[in-house]
Amino acid sequence: KLEIHDYLESTNTYLMKKISSGHAHASCVVANLQTNGRGRRGRTWQAGLGASLTFSLLWRFQCGAAALSGLSLAVGISLIRALHHFGITQAQLKWPNDILIGREKLAGILIELQGDMEGPSTAVIGVGINLNLSTKIKQQIDQPAIDLASAAPQTINPNELLGVLLNHLAEVLRSFELQGFTSLRDEWTKHHAYHQQQVRMLLPDGREILGVVQGITEDGNLLVETTSGLQKFASGEISLRGVV
Ligand code: ATP
Repeated sequence: KLEIHDYLESTNTYLMKKISSGHAHASCVVANLQTNGRGRRGRTWQAGLGASLTFSLLWRFQCGAAALSGLSLAVGISLIRALHHFGITQAQLKWPNDILIGREKLAGILIELQGDMEGPSTAVIGVGINLNLSTKIKQQIDQPAIDLASAAPQTINPNELLGVLLNHLAEVLRSFELQGFTSLRDEWTKHHAYHQQQVRMLLPDGREILGVVQGITEDGNLLVETTSGLQKFASGEISLRGVV
């Protein structure tokens, strides 16, 4: 089921409200304009009319929220596969779930969950991909950002992009349901922009930990070699940044 709205505050907010009224599995909601797009932890996704493809997908799982820890990484793989389909082979992942070109952000993913830890549970998977950012929008974004208009070898029809991406999402989500993140881990690592790179881990209390990325665990945590040894970071409250 595909719903297309001229504008919504946020496609995630809209679908989260629909979960309890029995909205169908695999419903997708697209907004041509999001007036209050959201990122993680109260941050904002900046968009304008035609500036980005923004949509959310509702996916019901038999398993509980506890088993979904690698889900946002899995979703990142479907974006990479779709972008490769359109020849954007330079797109990479940034743990846990951003898409970069070079060191500039092309797309973001926001996953919100509802349900019991033991199951069943429902995920609302929100995606924003920059199509064509105006200078004004770029100025409102507090990190380097890029769009498909400048990164793609040819003009990409956003409807086609959505179709290809939904197919990849369905395939990846089915595989994730059966095998968890394990079967996707090697592919994820291959596309990680910061694999074996020096990074800063920004902690919620304002501290920073420096280290070198060693890999990803089977539940999607990041392994970093630090001065105190190998440390494991869960995505919840941590932000990863490169060291220039
Ligand atoms: P992390 O996920 O590593 O904690 P993040 O800063 O990318 O870091 P998210 O919550 O994933 O955080 O995304 C929100 C952030 O994305 C905003 O705070 C802003 O820096 C950036 N951002 C907002 N709009 C856009 C956009 N259209 N294109 C690229 N980046 C954007």
